Amino acid sequence: MSYCTNQKQEYRKLDMEKDMAFKKKSVAVLVSIPAAKPSYFYAAPDGIQIVQGTIVQVPFASQQVVGIVIDDGPDRIFSKALRPISKVFYYPPIQQELIKFIRFVSAYTLTPAGLITRMVLRVPTGCEREQYIDSLHFTGVVPKRMTPARSRVIELASQDKKWTRSSLARAASTSQGVIDGLKMQGVLKTIKFYRPLVIPWPDPAYAPTILENDQRMAADILQTAVLENRFSVSLLDGVTGSGKTEVYFEAVACALRQGRQILILLPEIALTQQFLDRFYTRFGALPAGWHSDLTIRCRERIWSQVLHGHIRVVVGARSALFLPFQNLGLIIVDEEHDAAYKQEGRIFYNARDMAVARGHIAGIPVILASATPSIESQVNVAHGRYRLVSLPARFANAAMPNLTAIDLRKNPPSTGCFLSPLLVSMMKGVLQRREQSLLFLNRRGYAPLTLCRICGYRFSCKNCSSWLVEHRDRGLLLCHHCGYNQPVPEACSRCGALDNLVACGPGVERIAEEVSKEFAGARILVLSTDTVAGVKKIRFEFDSIIRGNVDIVIGTQLVTKGHNFPNMTLVGVIDADIGLANGDPRAAERTFQLLSQVTGRAGRTGVKSHGIIQTYQPDHPVIKALIMNDRASFYTNEIEEREPNYLPPFGKLAALIVSGAVRSEAENYARSLRRSAPHAPEITVLGPAEATLAFVRRRYRFRLLIHGKQCVNIQEFIHVLLAKAPVPRGTVRVQIDIDPQSFL
Ligand code: ADP
Ligand code: ZN
Repeated sequence: MSYCTNQKQEYRKLDMEKDMAFKKKSVAVLVSIPAAKPSYFYAAPDGIQIVQGTIVQVPFASQQVVGIVIDDGPDRIFSKALRPISKVFYYPPIQQELIKFIRFVSAYTLTPAGLITRMVLRVPTGCEREQYIDSLHFTGVVPKRMTPARSRVIELASQDKKWTRSSLARAASTSQGVIDGLKMQGVLKTIKFYRPLVIPWPDPAYAPTILENDQRMAADILQTAVLENRFSVSLLDGVTGSGKTEVYFEAVACALRQGRQILILLPEIALTQQFLDRFYTRFGALPAGWHSDLTIRCRERIWSQVLHGHIRVVVGARSALFLPFQNLGLIIVDEEHDAAYKQEGRIFYNARDMAVARGHIAGIPVILASATPSIESQVNVAHGRYRLVSLPARFANAAMPNLTAIDLRKNPPSTGCFLSPLLVSMMKGVLQRREQSLLFLNRRGYAPLTLCRICGYRFSCKNCSSWLVEHRDRGLLLCHHCGYNQPVPEACSRCGALDNLVACGPGVERIAEEVSKEFAGARILVLSTDTVAGVKKIRFEFDSIIRGNVDIVIGTQLVTKGHNFPNMTLVGVIDADIGLANGDPRAAERTFQLLSQVTGRAGRTGVKSHGIIQTYQPDHPVIKALIMNDRASFYTNEIEEREPNYLPPFGKLAALIVSGAVRSEAENYARSLRRSAPHAPEITVLGPAEATLAFVRRRYRFRLLIHGKQCVNIQEFIHVLLAKAPVPRGTVRVQIDIDPQSFL
């Protein structure tokens, strides 16, 4: 009997809930998980204002997720009861332009909007508690019975002050129970207040740099762009050491004067102590730094202060592009050509391109800066889409380094060594003059391959189709793709021969070994992502170079980016051919950029300086253009080669990377993708082919390359293709890489 009653009650309760839901206002929420649809409807709670951009928490399947309200449309009729929003956060709403940006990135990269939303809401919501205080206030409702204590409380709670439960009780000389009683009757209510942290703001007038003529002209153009306050892209193209940073700081100053927020993207934010110091010198306060090495607390604080508009300038890595600015007025992408702007993995996007898109959506100026602009940006200038701002000479007439190629066929290093005698003798001179040299080799570790002299066995990774790299200082053979490692062996794992393993080829550690034999007593520093643990350490290392505590620096890519080493007068490139060998369409461009940047580290302060490039192909057009300092002809040639072949930016590329734990499953699916390709005369599908990295982390990989003319909608094409060939159940996965930079 009682069982029946209960059931009836349950039904009645459900009916009531349904009625209520029908009458409730519904809102569309962009959820921060990769869901099937971009947004879902929820019932808005009563009495709390919800607008577009409000950050909320909602139930989704069995979990709670954060999301952004994107539509606070009129009351709708729904066929079933809507689930209510579980929580409304007190943050200011996310700007409309950022919501548009999320949608754009999602559509362009073919990534679920939920994943992009997650990048925007990356910071959970833990910081809310810290940054808001609850304060008690008088509502105007008069209590049923007035007592002297109650009247004192009401008087205090009517003042323009913030009261906690205990402070109000104390001030009114009464108990907290009295406060609770008044709250129950609706006489007092809690209001949340944002408690901003005090952060010094950069001051545009703090210490302006006195600019040289060319610099002044460039700065004026950029400032005009800021004052115009509409979308534009300026390419600040100036040789290394021409003062690009000083020049764009003037644009930053201008945007600060306009009361706007500014975002500066750098390719390697962890390494930018020097940048922060310069910013401090110019503006008298530090910008907020946004990178992967921040503590969660720090991350939360910055995120929330950017959203409140309390942080004016953010310097960040690519993910800073997804910060919730309130009032963004300028985006700067420094070293815009840098491949580090390309994010690969779960989401594929190029932060440089997306920065331009964000600028476009927000209607604000974007500045791209580089000494070696990308072909894309050069072409955009040529076609009048970007404004060119050039700085043709180094600051203070410092000369560019004198570049020479050493033909390794004619000047070979002695057996087992990697420095040609010519380079060694130049380094000796540098050491005697107490100047610094830098040797560049883009290879971590000691040797890229370990080989058995008896049976020819090559030590390779169990999980990947790659060789294990010897890291002698750690006593390990290490896979650079999955992290698998084993102790450096004494015997061959195949034939068991002892003491017959040879290290083939050099990495930076091996160069350091050679240098320390050659230059006994010299102070040597190896800089690579292996040797520097963490941001603090690397800042310290860079500092020691600048202070002259190091004679010879041996480094990977890490040393090429944006540093000024005043006493560095010689840069030696150990192997200029590495990058030219891989067959991707950007090999020439990448090598040109990398070698220009690294040799550009020399001679920043006017002392005569040299760049030595060791190569087996001194007649290669890239090497020749470098030596002759003939940038223009390099760019012209490269553009002339790409245009008729519809290579980017004259055509479009997209890669589909299929992987799976079972080789045949991955291959079959890749083939079925190919068969599903719709017919389109302007689009060619190449592949599937086994990827160069055919096996990574125990997954077999196949690639398809989609190549179309500039006019095609490559996203639409892929959309249709994927709809016709859905990913099968099991381990197979497909990744979509629009505008691929890597072809491995
Ligand atoms: P880039 O970014 O083009 O490589 P930087 O902006 O780093 O060049 O400038 C190179 C060096 O010259 C820096 O040490 C910088 O402080 C200095 N410099 C450039 N312009 C000026 C200037 N107008 N006054 C003083 N120092 C300058
Ligand atoms: Zn591996």
